[in-house]
Amino acid sequence: MDFESIKRYGLDYIGIDEEKSYDSFNPATNNHTIIVHLLKRDSYICPYCNSNKFIIRGSRSQLLKYFSSLEKNITLKLYRRVIKCKICNRHFKEKNPFIDSQRTTMIQKDYKILFALKNTTKTYTFVAKEFNVSPTYVTNLFDKKIDLERLKLPVVLAVDEVYSKRLTYHKYCFIMFDRLIIK
Ligand SMILES: [Zn+2]
Repeated sequence: MDFESIKRYGLDYIGIDEEKSYDSFNPATNNHTIIVHLLKRDSYICPYCNSNKFIIRGSRSQLLKYFSSLEKNITLKLYRRVIKCKICNRHFKEKNPFIDSQRTTMIQKDYKILFALKNTTKTYTFVAKEFNVSPTYVTNLFDKKIDLERLKLPVVLAVDEVYSKRLTYHKYCFIMFDRLIIK
């Protein structure tokens, strides 16, 4: 699967093995499946004894529902390596990159939130409600993931303030705008 397709599906952040991964579409059943293999890492840490001595013992697949901005229903067949620890002899699976263990929120949910924010008429609060997360979560996600290019300063920079009842703490917003493009 080429990198462009991987990017189009929003899968470019997980360390996908481009050579082994591919997508298939069955027109009869309307089923779209993406087979995902992960890039092999140099080291895997045993979750039981913290050792980094391991041998790979094949892999297991699991099916996941996936949503991208392009299609609502895609099935992911994710292959995760089964790893045997050489020290304690226990087996463990490669990490599932779709689950962010710290936040237990699906990364794909973050992706959908960012996509929803593309609609500039939606506020952070509105999007937060839509995805059942806090507005702070949405704000932080946006600040962390989106790097907006700095705009050029206009010839004339106008400033003003606006009162908003909806703001809970500071009631006034500071606004800057390019006077020459406002009609
Ligand atoms: Zn171990």
